[in-house]
Amino acid sequence: MKDYEGLMVFAEQRYGKIHPVSYELLGKGGEIADKLHVELSSVLLGSHMEEEAKELIYYGADKVFLYDSPDLKEFDLLNYKHNIVKLIREVKPEILLFGATHLGRSLGPRIAVALNTGLTADCIGLSVDEEGSLIQVRPAFSGNILAWIKTSTRPQMSTIRYKVMQKRERDPGRKGEIIKKDAELVAPLLTIVNKEKSGEVNIAEADVIVCGGKGLKSPQDIGILQDLADLLGGVVGCSRPLVDDGWIGKEHQVGFSGNTVKPKLYIACGVSGSAQHLAGMRGADVIVAINNDPSAPIFRVADYGIVGDLYEVIPKLTNEIKRRYSS
Ligand SMILES: Cc1cc2nc3c(=O)[nH]c(=O)nc-3n(C[C@H](O)[C@H](O)[C@H](O)COP(=O)(O)OP(=O)(O)OC[C@H]3O[C@@H](n4cnc5c(N)ncnc54)[C@H](O)[C@@H]3O)c2cc1C
Repeated sequence: MKDYEGLMVFAEQRYGKIHPVSYELLGKGGEIADKLHVELSSVLLGSHMEEEAKELIYYGADKVFLYDSPDLKEFDLLNYKHNIVKLIREVKPEILLFGATHLGRSLGPRIAVALNTGLTADCIGLSVDEEGSLIQVRPAFSGNILAWIKTSTRPQMSTIRYKVMQKRERDPGRKGEIIKKDAELVAPLLTIVNKEKSGEVNIAEADVIVCGGKGLKSPQDIGILQDLADLLGGVVGCSRPLVDDGWIGKEHQVGFSGNTVKPKLYIACGVSGSAQHLAGMRGADVIVAINNDPSAPIFRVADYGIVGDLYEVIPKLTNEIKRRYSS
């Protein structure tokens, strides 16, 4: 264990752009590295990524290990894994962090297995104890309790949810080192035959979310939420039962097993406010709840509560906003 030192963040890129979760991890990683008096590094794989490598330094990395090759342009699980595992064996960071994105959730565990170490998935908090071990906080038992987990092997590996950590201020004057590494290809390169159209909603980035729950009577009624969302420049979110019933795509789901969101305004319509739903949205700046049951738990986290039938309240709200702001 003594051979391991430093903290490393896997920098995820899509279509040549760094995913913002990587900057958040550098923010949190920097705090932990400062406490441990160790270096914060990052590993980036892709093609023509020099400018993005600099961005990682501006957001807190002291060192960036850069694998820059046209062969690594697209995410390729086996080749990405091979090069990162080789790097970890060489550099031996004590802590290795991934975003809990589709890509991080797929890559991180495979790297952990190859390194014969543990991984704590879907963390929402990180700190270090007095011995310098990483405390990884994640929801357990459907989000009803928070588990504090320590890893006895090294490196200590975690995937961390998007939008739960703070990135630091970008500092274009910040200096760091970019170390260019030669990529090894151990598996045939993936051939992309067809790119699936990316989801039209990016709920995690939305400033306004109008969220519907089981208070809706039919899938068509999502339209009244959409009208309000369009008016406010927002997107439609939903609770899990709507996804389970096939009313709307999973990319709209907010909560423990869906997306974590941090909008400026969250309007929950016919959502009871289960622990699993709250786990994904309690970070919203302003929460408005519309529910016909005054004892619904959503009112406990709401800044503004409207006790009423959503089929009466939402059209009135939409019409009033139109009346006030459309002229
Ligand atoms: C492992 C696990 C993971 C889960 N992950 C998630 C997750 O990510 N996200 C998630 O949302 N859930 C998740 N769940 C499900 C969660 O436990 C709840 O079942 C779910 O959040 C309830 O959704 P709801 O609030 O839409 O429905 P309900 O709990 O049925 O609430 C419907 C609400 O609508 C109100 N209502 C009814 N009619 C009207 C009306 N006309 N006008 C106004 N209000 C009305 C009712 O008073 C009620 O409060 C998870 C569960 C498990 C076990």
